[in-house]
Amino acid sequence: MIRKILTLAALLVSAGIAGFSQEEGTSELIQPSEWWRVHPRPVYATLEHVGTYQEWFEVYRLAEGAYAIYEPNQFEEAISYLALGSERGVLIDAGTGIGDIRQVVEELTDLPVSVVLTHEHYDHIGGAYRFDEIAAPSNPAGLEVLARGRDNASLQGYITDDYLWKPLPEGFDGATWTIPPVQPTQLLDDGDIIDLGGRTLEVIETPGHSPAHVCLLDRENRLLWTGDHFFPGPLYAFGGDVTIDDYIASNKRLEGLLDQFDYVLAGHNDPWVESDVIRRVSEAFQAIANGTAEYSEDDGLRRYFFQGFDVLIRAEMVEEMSS
Ligand SMILES: [Zn+2]
Repeated sequence: MIRKILTLAALLVSAGIAGFSQEEGTSELIQPSEWWRVHPRPVYATLEHVGTYQEWFEVYRLAEGAYAIYEPNQFEEAISYLALGSERGVLIDAGTGIGDIRQVVEELTDLPVSVVLTHEHYDHIGGAYRFDEIAAPSNPAGLEVLARGRDNASLQGYITDDYLWKPLPEGFDGATWTIPPVQPTQLLDDGDIIDLGGRTLEVIETPGHSPAHVCLLDRENRLLWTGDHFFPGPLYAFGGDVTIDDYIASNKRLEGLLDQFDYVLAGHNDPWVESDVIRRVSEAFQAIANGTAEYSEDDGLRRYFFQGFDVLIRAEMVEEMSS
């Protein structure tokens, strides 16, 4: 359990405070009151907005055949992505499940679309059950979560007033909301290629944020989908499903691929971040280990501040990193 944090002043002025998934409830360090003051995030004014029927979603066209499907009204600010080839498309992550993401996809393309999940957290899998074909990382820990789904009680904390900027969509009933179990029709391993016709996505296993996490690399179009490995917000490097050594090693691996992609398409907050940020995440972990990075701390939980992202980590983990 994360204890309440009392020192908020620094956090309230820092950008990128949302985009956090957790099982054990929120602390003020992670979710300041009125988190929605981050809106409008500046990047969206530079992107091509695409209208949709449902107000719950905002859709942006990022590049040829690449769309961001954004849920700005709920604290996670989840972003799912539609990637289209000439033959078919994939929905990369499926959001919270609060709106009907399949309807959005069908507004954007007539091609057959299957789901590819980067990992098993609720705000990435919520709408997956609406699709017939679902690919997910083969790691058993993730599959177990998918097979269980999420019951109504476990989701109530994500639709409280302080989680919501604007009202829930009409027709959505929080009292009966669940995330149905999903059975993947395809299991993903490192190096697998997802061929969409004229566009391929390569699976890169990136454990750390969760054991089963994968990123997807589109070499032809020089894009990397990062799920929750990286997003421009407070990266979650403690507790829960996190293994810090794996996280750092996964980031090093992505850093080794920096000549292959120009933009990072992240699972929360902003969908279009220059790839150099991956190098800076490695530097950030190094600075944390060296004791040269700035942070706020309360009850052993630290939030380290960097340009464009933060890192949440516990003090004792930092000591282990340094030793
Ligand atoms: Zn996650």
